[in-house]
Amino acid sequence: MKLSLVVPCFNEEGNIQKMYDETVRVFDGKIDDYEFVFVDDGSTDGTYHILKRLYENQSKCDIQVLSLSRNFGKEAAIYAGISNATGDLICLIDADLQQRPEVVLQMLKVMESDEDTDCVTAYQKVRHESRLMCCMKSVFYKIINKASKADFKNGASDFRLMKRKVADAIIQMGEYHRFSKGIFGFVGFNTKYIPYTAEERHSGKTKWGARKLFSYAIDGIISFTTFPLRLATFLGLLSAFLSVIYIIAVIIEKLAFGIAVPGYATIIVLLLFLGGMQLFSLGILGEYMSKVYIQVKQRPIYILKEHLHK
Ligand code: UDP
Ligand code: MG
Repeated sequence: MKLSLVVPCFNEEGNIQKMYDETVRVFDGKIDDYEFVFVDDGSTDGTYHILKRLYENQSKCDIQVLSLSRNFGKEAAIYAGISNATGDLICLIDADLQQRPEVVLQMLKVMESDEDTDCVTAYQKVRHESRLMCCMKSVFYKIINKASKADFKNGASDFRLMKRKVADAIIQMGEYHRFSKGIFGFVGFNTKYIPYTAEERHSGKTKWGARKLFSYAIDGIISFTTFPLRLATFLGLLSAFLSVIYIIAVIIEKLAFGIAVPGYATIIVLLLFLGGMQLFSLGILGEYMSKVYIQVKQRPIYILKEHLHK
């Protein structure tokens, strides 16, 4: 069985050679038939040249290099890689050596031990993150698991090994806004989870700051659930209900005590509250509309500049 390692690379010049060497060393004698599918996601450093050199000097295994025309993001890079992988088994792995090739061997073992397993996913048991970040992540998983039919496991990474049929199902999901955690959950299949510890980045720094992660989380919720739309309806109903109660209270007050002193503060508060809620609901609608807008244009998920392959 042939294994394809899909490696998205964005400005990873300090990591690729080492990642390649380590993988070849670890796989030596254990896996005979494998290929690297490196996806250069519009890097602006020397990543492409290193990949090209690797391709030209390949001897130990097959190498494909897909060079995208600009930075399309990790999700698009993964899609490009999976779409061009030729293996019966496909493994997604980062270029920065945070995800060790030894874990790939473990995943293969798990896959081989039970032929019903279609996908093996590594999850981080311990995270080297602040309490606040962990807490926000767990809130995110609670929300998205409640609101969506797909299954999301907290801590499960993109680091996973899958059979061809799972990869084909993922390729079929041609949506433009790709939220891979959701896509993996949506396609289903028998998935096993194994723990792993993410190492320190070998070189360079992460492209995922807190702000990018937050917007990624919002994108995920919008892409895989419609509950925010319902939230808007619910808030509208709630405010309508409260206003009816308030009107009844005002009428009773008038009948019992005559004209009350005009409530300046009440008016301002209500005005701000309702205005805020209307804008909030419009914002939610806008979020969905923008996704629909981009999707109906049917833009390609990635554009290939060059494809080095045999
Ligand atoms: N990556 C990519 N395109 C991007 C951002 C990241 O292909 O726009 C790749 C990156 O080169 C790495 C992997 O995705 O191989 C994970 O990125 P990173 O290490 O920055 O994320 P983290 O490990 O911190 O979650
Ligand atoms: Mg990383």
